[in-house]
Amino acid sequence: MRVLWVTNDLPPRAGGIQQFVGNLLERVHPAETLVVGPAGDAEAAAHDAGQPYATVRLPGAVLPTPPTRRRVLAHGRVHRPDVVVLGASWPLGELAAGLRDGLGVPVVSLSHGLEAGLPGVGLGRLVRRATRDLAALTTISDWAEQRLVPHVAAGRVVRIPPGVDVARFTPDVDGSAMRRAWEVPADAPLVGCISRLVPRKGQDQLLATWPRVRERHPDAWLVLVGEGPLEPSLRRRAEALGGRRAGIVLAGRVGWEALPACYAALDVFAMPCRTRRAGTDVEGLGIVYLEAQACGVPAIAGRSGGAPEAVRDGETGTVVDGRDPQALLAALDSWLGDPAARARAGTAGRAWVERQWSWDAIAAGFARVLDEVVGA
Ligand code: GDP
Repeated sequence: MRVLWVTNDLPPRAGGIQQFVGNLLERVHPAETLVVGPAGDAEAAAHDAGQPYATVRLPGAVLPTPPTRRRVLAHGRVHRPDVVVLGASWPLGELAAGLRDGLGVPVVSLSHGLEAGLPGVGLGRLVRRATRDLAALTTISDWAEQRLVPHVAAGRVVRIPPGVDVARFTPDVDGSAMRRAWEVPADAPLVGCISRLVPRKGQDQLLATWPRVRERHPDAWLVLVGEGPLEPSLRRRAEALGGRRAGIVLAGRVGWEALPACYAALDVFAMPCRTRRAGTDVEGLGIVYLEAQACGVPAIAGRSGGAPEAVRDGETGTVVDGRDPQALLAALDSWLGDPAARARAGTAGRAWVERQWSWDAIAAGFARVLDEVVGA
């Protein structure tokens, strides 16, 4: 199966879609794959050279313009693919007809949280336009699929969610060095959130609830990992609450290699996300919940978009309304107060993630989609 990928989102640039694309590329016919990606620097060139698939980079972003179409077609005529894959359906779906007709092969596209948000703001017609020439469109969650399906004009719609590297994120990772780096006592109950610092993710709610959590669990600590526009205001708020004296650490961004150890250091993961801006600022799924559970850590998720699908409520974590401090307090209180329940949830979460969310399982599903559209 020869595959031509066209994507504006590609590692080593960081981000959820970049990871999604990179993990499928590594696993689905890599030796027969050519990727047309966005302009990159020397780091990107070094990254590309180390991959099992071939990459060419355009002079700028990969947008649905006539020059992009011409360049992709030129590479396609040399590569002679059986199928074209678009890394995101909006706006790249606008290229589908030209590539399908120019190369004589079906075009499949991934979709992410963004596409699913479009119908909610009256832009369903963009989804229709971007999907009308696709042989198949993939969706990341039940939530996304329900939003998209009334507007999708693709030949078929199939579920391909993002996954987790279950070999990197495991309960065997040692988090003790991370606790030392954060200066959190080795035996203190530790709640953590690992995410961009933006309003939707709900770190503000964790801080707002924290004094009441500490009344019940005076030795508990809270660590917020990540960076983002809210960092100054979250830092001010943490300081006003007492900072380290109140058991609060803002750890900033951590390196990619340190990520599993961050989860492993936690007793409870909590990202009480909430939907904002009339439904346009919404959690598509929340890979962080899957990463936490893969490390055997129970996860508290907010009821936003696909996030509730990334946790088994009551079994591997808790789903709360991210705007309800009482619900967040109750969830934190119950996990912090019951180490045995945490251990059971950790084991159940790991097993569930291995079964349903490993990249190998997800890539196998995607390979089947390609087989189906090429065989059709
Ligand atoms: P999104 O940012 O809205 O796409 O949220 P997701 O939860 O879907 O994905 C975020 C990804 O970024 C996850 O893999 C996180 O582990 C990762 N991430 C978040 N904060 C940090 C950080 O500070 N450092 C690193 N290395 N990764 C982070």
